[in-house]
Amino acid sequence: MTPIAQHIQEIRASLPAGVRMVAVSKFHPVEELMEAYEAGQRLFGESRQQELLAKIPQMPADTQWHFIGHLQTNKVRSLVGKVAMIESVDTERLLDLIDKESERAGVTTRVLMQVHVAREETKFGFYPEELEAYFSDRRFEQLRATHICGVMGMASNTDDMERVARDFRDIAACYQRIKEIAPDLRGFDVLSMGMSHDYPLAIEAGSNLVRIGTAIFGPREY
Ligand SMILES: *Cc1c(COP(=O)(O)O)cnc(C)c1O
Repeated sequence: MTPIAQHIQEIRASLPAGVRMVAVSKFHPVEELMEAYEAGQRLFGESRQQELLAKIPQMPADTQWHFIGHLQTNKVRSLVGKVAMIESVDTERLLDLIDKESERAGVTTRVLMQVHVAREETKFGFYPEELEAYFSDRRFEQLRATHICGVMGMASNTDDMERVARDFRDIAACYQRIKEIAPDLRGFDVLSMGMSHDYPLAIEAGSNLVRIGTAIFGPREY
């Protein structure tokens, strides 16, 4: 068994039932993605539009892709219809554009709203209050070709695991509040949080989708 296949098996065996795993393959060559594919992995995460578009035709057709990076508005059209989910919707402007381009392409795009609780590390995402206001105001009702499936978040990039656990609890609380604010939202059931070094804490806080790169593929060479 290759190391990548072994990592996938080990991580998968450690995940509770109901928790899915995105194999974050950014900066790794297609040969390595194929090793993961051969080990049964079908769901991959990429954070750069060009890299993703280059990899799609090189992988088997049943490969599913999640876009997990900051998405510039001028790149939306090229991704719509090609990805199973955009996990990183961080502004309403981006959401509205995804909706417009999806309608134009005749597809429905599944998305997660990125919530920002971490300290300085990432500047992307909605603050919890902003996101909750979006749902209280029922602005999602204007969407015609976009399905908001849940929330994605990242913890602070720190060794302080108390802080990391608190960030995950804050993200999970925001997700739960949205469910209460809009109980009629259909299929709002994805809570994406947890990466290689912190996914057990994320799962403890309620994550049902972890995004794991380094622990599968090894360090990235930027
Ligand atoms: C790169 C990345 C990951 C994976 O990080 P690892 O530490 O390599 O597991 C997860 N989520 C997002 C949004 C990323 O950009």
